[in-house]
Amino acid sequence: MDEIKLLKDLLNQNLNNPEALNKIISQFENKLRPVFILEVIIELLQTKKMPKHTELVLWEKAAQLCEKIYEFRRALGIYKKLYTLTGKETYLTKLEILKNLKVFEKLKDLLKKLQLSKEDLISIYNESLSTGKSIEYILIEKFKVPKDKILESIKNFYQVPVFDLKDLLKLHKVQQALNIKKSFFIEKLCLPFEHPEKHKIILVCYYPKDKESIETVKKILQLTTEEPIIGFAIKEDLLEAIERYFSDLTTQLGFEDLFIEEVVEEPEEEIEDTSAIEDSVIVQLVNKVIEEAYVKGASDIHWESLTGKKGLQIRFRIDGDCFVYSTIPETQKRAVISRIKIMANLDISQRRLPQDGKIKFKTKDGKVFELRVATIPTIENNEDVVMRILGGLNFRTLEEIDLREETYEGFKKILSLPYGLILVVGPTGSGKTTTLHAALKYLNQPNKKIWTAEDPVEIVQEGLRQVQINPKTGLTFARVLRAFLRADPDIIMIGETRDQETAHTLIEASLTGHLVLSTLHTNSAPETIVRLLNMGVDPYNFADALLGILAQRLAKRLCPHCKEPYTPSEEEIERLKREYGNHPVKPLTEDLIKNATFYRPVGCSKCNFSGFKGRIAIHELLIPDDDIKKLIVKAAPANEIREAAIQKGFLTLKQDGILKVLKGETTLKQIQAVTVR
Ligand SMILES: [Zn+2]
Repeated sequence: MDEIKLLKDLLNQNLNNPEALNKIISQFENKLRPVFILEVIIELLQTKKMPKHTELVLWEKAAQLCEKIYEFRRALGIYKKLYTLTGKETYLTKLEILKNLKVFEKLKDLLKKLQLSKEDLISIYNESLSTGKSIEYILIEKFKVPKDKILESIKNFYQVPVFDLKDLLKLHKVQQALNIKKSFFIEKLCLPFEHPEKHKIILVCYYPKDKESIETVKKILQLTTEEPIIGFAIKEDLLEAIERYFSDLTTQLGFEDLFIEEVVEEPEEEIEDTSAIEDSVIVQLVNKVIEEAYVKGASDIHWESLTGKKGLQIRFRIDGDCFVYSTIPETQKRAVISRIKIMANLDISQRRLPQDGKIKFKTKDGKVFELRVATIPTIENNEDVVMRILGGLNFRTLEEIDLREETYEGFKKILSLPYGLILVVGPTGSGKTTTLHAALKYLNQPNKKIWTAEDPVEIVQEGLRQVQINPKTGLTFARVLRAFLRADPDIIMIGETRDQETAHTLIEASLTGHLVLSTLHTNSAPETIVRLLNMGVDPYNFADALLGILAQRLAKRLCPHCKEPYTPSEEEIERLKREYGNHPVKPLTEDLIKNATFYRPVGCSKCNFSGFKGRIAIHELLIPDDDIKKLIVKAAPANEIREAAIQKGFLTLKQDGILKVLKGETTLKQIQAVTVR
């Protein structure tokens, strides 16, 4: 306390000497806490008469001290005053920064302990602004600040009760709130609960001092007489609580039942509880992995038992490539695999033979999708699991499946014909289902009856009558197709043509007034003709029925966020021309190359630094004319059919791909990768 008095005296004696004042204050900054120095200065300013110049120096010092102790509002007030007094531009910049930093004031107790710099705070603020995350959330995530410390600091600042998500989920919902739209509470960042003891309402808010919003919420909830208790929760916790408050599941189960914490807190059943905790950890882990995979757009999840007790490796397949997502410790390996088997209704005790099953999964925000699960015994008495995520396919229209103008027009033309056979071909994972559904969407009108048989049904479309094939119960493609023919169809889609019977029936159906769509696992359009003839279909009928064959592949698409234009070397251009080859009707001209912009991959955070994001489809569309139909009838070899088609302007998959390289969508290397035999 002597130091304070000493400071006061020294300052008092030097009120006419601003330089000395600054020196004195700096000396004391090592000995006294900033808040005490601030008090002395403010007291002087308010009680003593002093020259204008001195006053300005002291105010400036006071403002700096306020910043130092994270009292940004107060600093803001002082700088405003300084700006009015001096008109100096520098204060304006200060004001600009402080206006943003004001949000940190509620955390000042904590910030004093953490000693975060102003630069840190500015970067947190900017991140919050650009990502929509709260500053609290960023502190937790990036600076590893414990959530309870943050809540404690805020509690001291606002003097209101604080809640984290766990606390919120234990509270009871308010009935009248359920009649109000979720979006209202999201906008206001406020959520009402019943107080556990008193018969009162707690209004938990992210902005507990925002009187206007709180008044609106009270009015909407008709809480006009009773004053609610105002509480605080971090934005992200509040948003999650709002989600759960309004999800169907929670209305049925009661809010708190969803949480295992509830079970854990029952003291009587201690033995039961530990297993409940372990179980729930495994359950949550498996759920989290599945949900992550779905969100990331993975097509498959691989659970791989590593040898030598190295645990369980999880890999996701995204856009055709696998990458390691995470590894689970050996101790949890068995439990995780058992959990998956339970979910898929498999026999947990059977670990020596492959099994397959299905899981119907519901995400936290209520999206439902299916997983096809296969288990396979691996070496060292291990077991692997592979999951295929179904329904992860995005529905697309005919305009959105990367057809070049010409292919698009041709495909639309054959789809518009009243009857005949249209085939979409390619290996597994070449996007056939997406294309078929885009075609069906184009055809899907109330005046048409459309039957589809699919295995699995990956896209659901209103207006179609869709059947899930189930060979285990005898519901095969051939059988369903026969049933369709008795069920007044206009258009029939058969997910896959695998056998002679189906092929034969398809052709019959397309000749008797139905438009029939199907797929085959063949490499190219001309080869498809040969394959079907080899299956033993009647060449005359087939030639008659066939409207067209669309073969396709998916190539990696250059990431639009980071791809970089460049000028290819002579050698590259030569390679491109060589790969395209000669074409009698549609050659790769110098003009086409000159007008193209080539891009190369770079890599950014949006594409996992691979330079590629998503995939682009490449196509070849064969629409047989009379000459080609003659070749079909005489069962000509595939290359003869291809040559004949090329003479009429047919472009191969590779040529179509190269035209997409010229458009800057992908690279020659990617096209080569998917068009090699
Ligand atoms: Zn990128």
